[in-house]
Amino acid sequence: MATLNLARLVAAAADTIAAHAEELTALDRAIGDGDHGLNMKRGFEAVRAEADAFAAKPLPEALKAIGTKLVMTVGGASGPLFGTLFMALGKEISAEPDRANLAAAFGKAIEAVAARGKSQVGQKTMLDVLQPVHDALAGGKTAAEIADIADAAAEATVPMKAQRGRASFLGDRSIGHMDPGARSTALLVRTVGQAIG
Ligand code: ADP
Ligand code: MG
Ligand code: MG
Repeated sequence: MATLNLARLVAAAADTIAAHAEELTALDRAIGDGDHGLNMKRGFEAVRAEADAFAAKPLPEALKAIGTKLVMTVGGASGPLFGTLFMALGKEISAEPDRANLAAAFGKAIEAVAARGKSQVGQKTMLDVLQPVHDALAGGKTAAEIADIADAAAEATVPMKAQRGRASFLGDRSIGHMDPGARSTALLVRTVGQAIG
């Protein structure tokens, strides 16, 4: 793994979310309350504002602090879930992770998200992208391959019926739309992959 420049990674993630905020909001307008882009943008801009302070910490502490910031600023259902992902990742990761440690820590972090959301794969949520990304990471795929797998996994939420979150209130009418949290997750996966190679 290339040396991690956390400040640059945070800036890239915030840029990606900002560039796709309208798209995420449009996805959420179709099957939710139309705020996912705004929620994510608010959270990632808050993280960006403190990027240097986060980057000065050892990686586990930095990830925990980023997770805490996301919980406080993203809001909605996704804030606590993305926050949990980063906080749990920080708890499990080593200061200089190799791929095996990263994959194991990411697996634990996904379990923490599933526990927090009382959710599992197949329910049309961010988990439907997180899990295949974990499997690809553990299976030795390249960053570019993992990014493509994440995109395909987000696409695969289109025919699913939502069983968690606001979209679940729509029942069958949630079918035929991409899950906004799955899309934002795929966007972040590609950005992180490009940054850490
Ligand atoms: P809200 O629905 O509160 O407005 P957002 O629009 O920011 O929050 O986020 C919605 C996204 O959060 C969904 O697209 C889905 O991916 C994710 N999500 C919602 N509830 C859950 C859950 N219980 N488990 C996993 N992910 C969830
Ligand atoms: Mg919403
Ligand atoms: Mg909302």
